Amino acid sequence: MRLILLGAPGAGKGTIAEIIRARLNIPTISTGNILREAILNRTKLGRVAKPYIDAGKLVPDNVIIELIKNRLSEADCKNGFILDGVPRTAAQAAALDEIGLNIDAVLMVEASDEVIERRLSGRRVCKCCGATYHLKNKPPRKENQCDSCGGALVRRADDTPEIIRDRLKVYHDKTKPLIEYYSNKDILLTVDGQKNIEETKDHVFSVLGIMERL
Ligand code: AMP
Repeated sequence: MRLILLGAPGAGKGTIAEIIRARLNIPTISTGNILREAILNRTKLGRVAKPYIDAGKLVPDNVIIELIKNRLSEADCKNGFILDGVPRTAAQAAALDEIGLNIDAVLMVEASDEVIERRLSGRRVCKCCGATYHLKNKPPRKENQCDSCGGALVRRADDTPEIIRDRLKVYHDKTKPLIEYYSNKDILLTVDGQKNIEETKDHVFSVLGIMERL
């Protein structure tokens, strides 16, 4: 299954990707995670991406398109994949079409700007393993410490209130038009990103018709 998750930052794409990955055993490709890892490892890609990420702006299309083409050519993608956070612009969507990916479905994860602002400002991530928590909705067992690996929990540099607002604006301006793009191709499905995790699981599986097929 080849899937795209579309939606604002913090809409719940990562959670939904994990639900689908666990069921179908196909990799999630998150451009945000790839870029953050590149920044941590101080690679050339990381150096290019850092100023854009820090400012809540999009990394240029040519950088993202090359990155995603390389990643999709890896062996683990041959039975399917979940794209999380890409495409984010019309140029990226067109580039994916040019590769001839034959996407099965685009899941549009919906959440209001208010919910997103609350989620992102309370989000904390593990510095070591990247696990995600929320101060109120999903607190760690020990304050500021990852339940899985014991690593320190930090706020992402782009999860500050001003940058969250900039990222939402970028989403509305650049990424939201893709809803129409995929709706015209008749592959758009909508998922409510504001339900709790159990409801979300049922919802995602029924939207995808996975339960019936497995
Ligand atoms: P995310 O973790 O998906 O919220 O992405 C964090 C940041 O990485 C974004 O605010 C952008 O600066 C950058 N980024 C991630 N994916 C893309 C993309 N497909 N196109 C451009 N920039 C991206």
